[in-house]
Amino acid sequence: EEEAIIRSEKLSVAGQMAAGIAHEIRNPLTSLKGFTQFLKTKVSDHHDYLDIMLTELDRINTIVQEFMALAKPQIKQFSHYNLIPIMENVITLLETQAIMNDVEMKKDFVCEDPMVYCDENQLKQVFINLMKNAIEAMPGGGDLSIVLSTDQSGMLSIRIKDQGMGIPKEQLEQLGSPFYSTKSSGTGLGLMICQRIIEAHHGTIRFESTKGSGTTVTVELPRAGYGTGSSPTA
Ligand code: ADP
Ligand code: MG
Repeated sequence: EEEAIIRSEKLSVAGQMAAGIAHEIRNPLTSLKGFTQFLKTKVSDHHDYLDIMLTELDRINTIVQEFMALAKPQIKQFSHYNLIPIMENVITLLETQAIMNDVEMKKDFVCEDPMVYCDENQLKQVFINLMKNAIEAMPGGGDLSIVLSTDQSGMLSIRIKDQGMGIPKEQLEQLGSPFYSTKSSGTGLGLMICQRIIEAHHGTIRFESTKGSGTTVTVELPRAGYGTGSSPTA
């Protein structure tokens, strides 16, 4: 018991240091990006190299940002929220990206009393990550359906279904491992963040996929006012 406590304290010191380092990387990164952009306006050739440098700098920035979101102890603000406006907001945020990728978002929010006890911003982060993945899985466009439903089980389910390339069976179990990504510009941190947040909400996240025809991600969250009402942790 005591051993476990000490170990988790050590882990949090390491986590704090890592978050500190990530934070320190951001300032020199901003200056590197600024000077690279400046160089581009000053030199007339090698713009292809400078563009690669800018893309790679953006990539480092994304990794650092996502890493900080993981390592930083977030202040949790739990309250009772209706999930429908949360989902509407996420859809609005992703509308431009969807249109640019020929993706049509189809929502079905006909659902009674979709109340959850949650941290609104963290849940938004989960659905942004999942829907971004869905859009990125359909480079040639397609439908992205988002379905909210409740039943008598006391759980609320959110299904995010794409018509993308799918995930091979042997890769399904890798999902959520840190830095696991099949994308050239991916960080492989998105799903890890999602899993952590959903766990802290006493929910579950499940992936079903058929290679070539698409992926369905199902998130289940406890409905506020149902069951034992154990309080969220972490
Ligand atoms: P990233 O998006 O940066 O690659 P994620 O953690 O969000 O990292 O996702 C990890 C990997 O899981 C992706 O690189 C991709 O291979 C796979 N993946 C996640 N969602 C989907 C999806 N909807 N369709 C196909 N593959 C997916
Ligand atoms: Mg992602």
